[in-house]
Amino acid sequence: MSDSCSCPPEAGAATCELKVPPPSLAACPTNGKVGKAVDTQIVKAMLAVPLTELRDVEYRFCSDPDCPTVYYSVDGLQTFDEPALREKVYQKHLNDPEVFVCYCFRHTLGNIRLEIEREDKSHVVEEINAGIRAGQCACDIRNPQGSCCLGNVRGLVKTLAAA
Ligand SMILES: [Zn+2]
Repeated sequence: MSDSCSCPPEAGAATCELKVPPPSLAACPTNGKVGKAVDTQIVKAMLAVPLTELRDVEYRFCSDPDCPTVYYSVDGLQTFDEPALREKVYQKHLNDPEVFVCYCFRHTLGNIRLEIEREDKSHVVEEINAGIRAGQCACDIRNPQGSCCLGNVRGLVKTLAAA
């Protein structure tokens, strides 16, 4: 769902509002916070339940570590929690050493912390960038958030290096 529409400017904002779901409907039904819109492709890739459950609606990703819901439909009728998924979700386990932060090249908090302890720095961002350049990255179908992991990895490396 895009915020822009093809209405002519003369039509005014009221015409465009029809295409954008009201914010209250776009919030996670479990914690009430507005999640990030994701392509249905990532929901299909992550679900461990029959994909017949999917409907032709927009799904969103709830990144709140304290909320059990991972994906929800913007009409609020469906939520998918971690037990319904094939992967553990980094945002829901920020301190778990075994959960992937980078799903394509399989880096975890534990591995990155070990590297920093041994070498005093982490090469993980360079490694991921090299993989992206080599066309090996598939965050859009492997990372539950449906987008690149590098922001999360950079944040984690910074936190671990400062510890
Ligand atoms: Zn939520």
